[in-house]
Amino acid sequence: MKILRLKPGKERSLARRHPWIFESAIARGSADAGETVRVESHEGQFLAWAAFSPISKIRARAWSFVEAQRIDAGFLASLCKKAVDARSLFDIRSDGMRLVHGEADGLPGLIVDRYGDTLVAQFLSAGVERWKDVLADALLKATGLARLYERSDANGREREGLKPVTGWLRGADEGGGSGDTVRAIREHGWQLSLDIATGHKTGFYLDQRDSRQRFAELAQHRKFRRVLNCFCYTGGFTVAALAGLKAAGALEGAELTSVDSSLPALEMARANVALNGFEAADTRFLDADVNATLRRFIEEGQTFDAIVLDPPKFAPTIAHAERAARAYKDINRLALKLLVPGGVLLTFSCSGGIGADLFHKIVAGAGIDAGVDGYISERLGAAPDHPMTIEFPEGEYLKGLLVVRK
Ligand code: SAH
Repeated sequence: MKILRLKPGKERSLARRHPWIFESAIARGSADAGETVRVESHEGQFLAWAAFSPISKIRARAWSFVEAQRIDAGFLASLCKKAVDARSLFDIRSDGMRLVHGEADGLPGLIVDRYGDTLVAQFLSAGVERWKDVLADALLKATGLARLYERSDANGREREGLKPVTGWLRGADEGGGSGDTVRAIREHGWQLSLDIATGHKTGFYLDQRDSRQRFAELAQHRKFRRVLNCFCYTGGFTVAALAGLKAAGALEGAELTSVDSSLPALEMARANVALNGFEAADTRFLDADVNATLRRFIEEGQTFDAIVLDPPKFAPTIAHAERAARAYKDINRLALKLLVPGGVLLTFSCSGGIGADLFHKIVAGAGIDAGVDGYISERLGAAPDHPMTIEFPEGEYLKGLLVVRK
């Protein structure tokens, strides 16, 4: 068995059960990609069993902090089952949900989402790559499902020295081929279709489920007349607003504008509006850059009762934080200017490199620059099937604010 010996004093984060072992903390030791290593302090004391990753800056990720634990198929299957079972503790009002959220579920680098009868997985570390077959079988067993599609084409793979891989891993459709990768999930009171092969991430932004519900409630309560959904992707917040307006009997006369720079996403957004029976509603879909669109709307003197800003990750790591902060501030400033008094802004950042406090400051700064005051009435975050854990604070990535313009 191979041993990874740490430098003096570098055992502290592992002692707190944080699962990452950085290259810079290692005194000596090496192994093959994904191989299990015994991690020891400089003094030779056992710290963890971990999966080695030969080229990643995160050189190993811990599987277990218990010396007697064997890292084998049975152990990994038990982690999969535990993650799946834990979802019943959360209040998930959808048949689309995250079943495994990497480090938070003790499976570093593994993401598994369920869309109805289909699982979609991303294997993003050398450790889970090595155990892929065991994990695939265990996931199907734990869920009682038969189909698993692999979407290991996220950026993180490169950093682990792994090539992108996509396609059916288990239960390919009769006749194989790439067809039939569109799924429709039921979320709260509406339906949303997505494509597991071509959609972002595993196909959909499940993490925004509860914020979409909140937006539907606000639409129902406030009977928005003019709604702007920026970075709309497949139209989740647009459908939510329509559902809320319908519940209030306030669809008539409401105008909803959805903006995204991806044409396939907009086509799916349009299809999702129709899927929920809202084809007669006054909806517009703009294939455009959000920043430029917000500027144009200001020039045209347009205003809105509700705006959603859910941009892509501007700061993947802390190194990008400064530039990203400027970009967040800019779109928030423009959006706040477009709001009527009493109007609501739902604004998000999914950047790990921007913490909740910093995001709050950025939005506040945007208000100052816009000359707009507002009540920050709620803080929003990822749905509970994307858990944060005590031991892994990096798990907090998505944060949102609900701002009501004074
Ligand atoms: N709110 C969505 C998820 C948004 S993901 C939901 O609930 O499902 C971010 C989206 O921003 C992606 O669809 C991407 O195509 C889009 N995007 C990225 N840069 C953009 C830009 N400069 N202008 C417009 N859209 C952009």
